[in-house]
Amino acid sequence: VSRLRRLKLRASQLSRQRYDVIVVGGGHAGTEAAAAAARVGAETLLVTQKIQTIGALSCNPSLGGVGKGHLVREVDALDGLCGRAGDWAGINFSVLNRSKGPAVWGLRAQLDRQRYREFIQVQLLSTPRLKVLEGSVEELLVSDPNPAEPGRHRVTGIRLANGSQPISASSVVLTTGTFLSGSLFVGRTSSPGGRIGDAPSSSGLTQTLRDQLGLRVGRLRTGTPPRLLKDSVDLSLAKLHPPDRQPTPFSFMNTQTRCKPEEQLPCYLTYTTPGVERVVRESLHLNCHIQQDAKGPRYCPSIESRVLRFPGRSHQVWLEPEGLTSDLLYPQGLSMTMPPDVQLRLIREIPPLHRAEIHTPGYGVQYDYVCPTQLSPALQVKNTQGLFLAGQINGTTGYEEAAAQGLWAGVNAARRALSQPPAALSRTESYIGVLVDDLVSRGVTEPYRMFTSRAEFRTSLRPDNADLRLTMKGFELGCVSAVRHHEAVRVRCSLQNAIAALQALTMSSTSWRKKLPGISMSENKNQTLSGMDLLEYKDVSFEMLASVFPECLSPYMEFSQRLKIEAVYKPHNDQNRSEIKRIQSEENMSLPQDIDYFTLPVSLSQEVREILDRFRPTTLGAATRLQGMTPAAIANLFNYVHFTR
Ligand code: FAD
Repeated sequence: VSRLRRLKLRASQLSRQRYDVIVVGGGHAGTEAAAAAARVGAETLLVTQKIQTIGALSCNPSLGGVGKGHLVREVDALDGLCGRAGDWAGINFSVLNRSKGPAVWGLRAQLDRQRYREFIQVQLLSTPRLKVLEGSVEELLVSDPNPAEPGRHRVTGIRLANGSQPISASSVVLTTGTFLSGSLFVGRTSSPGGRIGDAPSSSGLTQTLRDQLGLRVGRLRTGTPPRLLKDSVDLSLAKLHPPDRQPTPFSFMNTQTRCKPEEQLPCYLTYTTPGVERVVRESLHLNCHIQQDAKGPRYCPSIESRVLRFPGRSHQVWLEPEGLTSDLLYPQGLSMTMPPDVQLRLIREIPPLHRAEIHTPGYGVQYDYVCPTQLSPALQVKNTQGLFLAGQINGTTGYEEAAAQGLWAGVNAARRALSQPPAALSRTESYIGVLVDDLVSRGVTEPYRMFTSRAEFRTSLRPDNADLRLTMKGFELGCVSAVRHHEAVRVRCSLQNAIAALQALTMSSTSWRKKLPGISMSENKNQTLSGMDLLEYKDVSFEMLASVFPECLSPYMEFSQRLKIEAVYKPHNDQNRSEIKRIQSEENMSLPQDIDYFTLPVSLSQEVREILDRFRPTTLGAATRLQGMTPAAIANLFNYVHFTR
C-alpha cells in the first residue's frame, strides 16, 4: 500500500504534452489498453477521472466463467493484466461446466475487490513508458478531413475539463465504459452519473463522436444489486456452495493462487419466493428504469424483468463474498432499480435475508455506446484515423470482454503510432478474434457478452491452449515479455516432445490390454494403437501410461492434464483443419475500402449492396458473416476482387 501511495504521488506530473498513445478511462478496457500500448513500445498516457478507481469492479466481484474465462486466459497469454490480477485477488476459485468437455470449462473466481484494484494500480503505475494522469477528458481534438480522403478525419489529441493545455497524441483509445452521458436510476429519480459515486463522462465527448465525426451512437442500460451487510444475513438458511478444493490459476505464469486453498470463502445459494414477485408488481409505478424498458439487458437481467418474464417461478440468488475482510455480501441475481425502501421490503421476502440490511441500494445505469460496425478489426474508427474504441463503449458488457478489447485496441493504437501495420486476430485462432469480428461485422442490439457457442472452432480454442495459440504471436507484436515468451516456448517444446513420445509407443490393442488391464477397450477389434490414441479413451490417464513407460514419459508429468486434453480433441481438430484453412483464406482476402458497392459491376441485389455499403467489411470473411449476405453474393464478390483488383 505504501508503494502504491508513492506511485500515486508521482502520477499526475506530466513531463510532456505529446504522447504516442492516450488512453481515456481506467476501467477494464482502459487499463489493459494502456499497459499493452506501453509494452508494445509506445509512450503512453492513461487519463482517468480518479486514480483510486483504476481497476474498480463496478458490479459483480468476480472474474471469468464460461466463455469469459476463455477471454481471461487469452488476455493473459498476450501478457495482459486481468489473469494475474485474478490470481492475486481471487478468494474462491471454481471451474464451471466440469461435466462437459474441457474445451468449454469456465475458469471463474470470486474476487476481493480491494486486492484486485490494488494489483492493477501497482502494475500500471510501475509500467515503463506509461504515465497516469487524473482528469476528465472533455473533448477529442480532431483534424479536418484531408481533401484527398473525404470523410476521413484524424484524431490529434484530447482536451481536459480543467482547461489545461491540450495534450496531443498519434492515437487515442476511448474506453469510457458506462460513463458516456451516463444517468443513474433509483426508483423514480434519475441523476447524472457513470457509476455510483462517479460523475458521468462529459456530453462534449458524445458531441464530438456524433456531430463532428458523424458516428451512430445508441443508448444501452444495465443495473446492479444492493450490497448487503453480511452480519445481517442468516447464511444457515442458504445452501453452502464450496469452491474447488484446489484453485486453478487464470495465468499461465502462475502455478498457484495467492489465496491458499483452505483460506477460500464459500458462496451460498438461495431462491426468490412469491413475495418477491408481489413486491415487484406492486412497485412498478415507482420504478422508472423498468417502466422505460421492462425487458432490460438479456444477459444481466434485473429481478424485475426476471419475474415479469417468468411469472410464478422462483429464481436463483447467489450470495457472494466481496472480499476476505469485507463486511458485505453481493446478492447475484437481485439487480434492481426500485426505491431503497422497496428494495429492503423485497430482499426480506427471501428467507436468509429476512433481517438483512442494505449497505448500498441497487441502481440502474443508462449510457451511450458507439455502434461497433463503424470500427475496423483493429478497433479503429473507420472514418477517423488514430481513434480506437474498446469496452462497454462498443456495446459489450462484462470485465472480460472489456479487457480483451482493451488489450487489442492498445496493441493496435501503439502499432499505428509507431508506424506499424494493424495486427489481426482471426476467429479461427482466438475468442478475442470472435469477439472483435462479431462486434465489427454484426454489431449489437443489446449488451454483448461472450459465450462458447459464439465460436465455430470451440474444440481448438480452449482455455488450456491459449498460450500455444497466442503467446508467440503476441511476442512478435511486441506485447509479450521475453520471460513469458521463454516459458511458452518451453511448454510448446515439451508438449511436442511428449506427443512424439506417445506416438512412438505403438502396439496392438491386445498388448495394450495386457499392459493396462481394466481399460474399457473393445475386445473384438485388434488394431495397432499409439499411446496418443490410447489417451483418447475416457478411462486412460497420462499418469497410467507414464507408470508403464516411466523412462520416456515421466519427464512430462507436469503436462499430464494438457496432454490428455490434446488427445481427446485430436480427432475433432484433425477434422476442423480443412474448414479452418478455408475460413483463413477468406479472412485473408481484403476488400478494398474504396469500393462503391452501389455501382459495382457484378450481380448483387440492392439489399446486399446496401448491407455492404453500410458495414463496409474489411475482409471477405467478415462479409460472409453479415446478416443478409447470400452465398451467390459472396461468390460474385470473391470473383470481382480476385480477378479485377
Ligand atoms: P468501466 O469499467 O466502466 O470504466 C470506465 C472508466 O473510464 C472509468 O474509470 C471512468 O472513470 C473513466 N472515464 C469515463 N469517462 C472519462 C473521461 N471523459 N475522462 C477520463 N476518464 C473517464 N457487467 C456485467 O458483466 N454484468 C452486469 O450485471 C453488470 N452490471 C453493471 C451495473 C452497473 C450499474 C455498472 C456501472 C456496470 C455494470 N456492468 C456489468 C458492467 C461492467 O462494469 C463493465 O462491463 C465493465 O466495467 C466495462 O469496462 P470498461 O473498461 O469498458 O468501463
